[in-house]
Amino acid sequence: IVIFDGKTRVYSLLGYPVEHSFSPAMQNAAFKSAGLNSVYVPFSPESEKLAAAIAGIRALGIAGANVTVPHKEAVIPLLDNLTEIAMTYGAVNTIVNRGGSLTGHNTDGEGFIQALKKDCGFDPAGGTAVVFGAGGAARAVALALARSGCPGMALVNRSTAKAEKIAGFVCEAIGVQAEVFEWKAGNKELAVWAQKAALMVNCTSIGMSGGAEAAFPLPDELPGSGQLAYDVVYNPTHTVFMQRAERNGAATANGLSMLLRQGALSFEFWTGLTAPLEVMRNALELR
Ligand code: NDP
Repeated sequence: IVIFDGKTRVYSLLGYPVEHSFSPAMQNAAFKSAGLNSVYVPFSPESEKLAAAIAGIRALGIAGANVTVPHKEAVIPLLDNLTEIAMTYGAVNTIVNRGGSLTGHNTDGEGFIQALKKDCGFDPAGGTAVVFGAGGAARAVALALARSGCPGMALVNRSTAKAEKIAGFVCEAIGVQAEVFEWKAGNKELAVWAQKAALMVNCTSIGMSGGAEAAFPLPDELPGSGQLAYDVVYNPTHTVFMQRAERNGAATANGLSMLLRQGALSFEFWTGLTAPLEVMRNALELR
């Protein structure tokens, strides 16, 4: 039995919706394993209630929070400070409350890079990358790859204007070239580019609904042997993008490792302790 008392430190998740989130299981397992009198609770304020939710963090002395879709950008003006990385990403996924002053961090990008390096044995500086999507996850992944030495990347999206925006930002902020390709079947220029890439990352929500394999605008043989196909989607654990890549002999991974690593970094910012990684990983894998 967990007993909370007047000294319990409360952490929260702010998103809309949050029912699907694996973070409460992961963070509560970490607190328990570290022997901390702390608890992590999900809340789902709609966009128009975000300012009140942040005021609530201050008023109730909530020690920290994770922020997820759709609040990662909107929360910025409501905070007192931003880390340089959160500023570069233009998005916050972690809030630390120190004596009433709220600092916004971003652990998504670093979490992704750690997942590549430590869980997939992949060096982001080792070759070019193709990123599918141009939403929040794609922006974090593209920036993180560029910051970690990726020599160049292709951004593929239905709305090319959104991809152009990320490409411009990656070039301006980090000086890495990003080419934009339209998401359309039989895109030959993309096929040539993708053939040479070391990494392909699905940052669209396609795998979540399943059954949309044919939608990837790649020749059948890609992703293929010698390439890593990383899907930021983790539910289902074996996504359509991964299944396609596996059939072609590519290495594959789902987004659980990114979720784990970004969560471990949040835990470390909140507590100053080393995150109990294996406990957190087990909590995710049991979901
Ligand atoms: P957004 O809503 O910001 O972006 C969604 C992207 O998917 C857009 O680029 C959109 O294209 C594209 N897309 C959606 N449906 C289709 C389709 N049928 N065909 C082609 N493109 C499509 O979402 P996020 O970037 O925040 O999240 C994307 C996924 O990443 C989610 O599944 C989320 O759960 C996961 N995620 C995982 C994380 C982890 O830690 N593992 C962290 C963050 C996110 P368009 O712009 O043309 O509409």
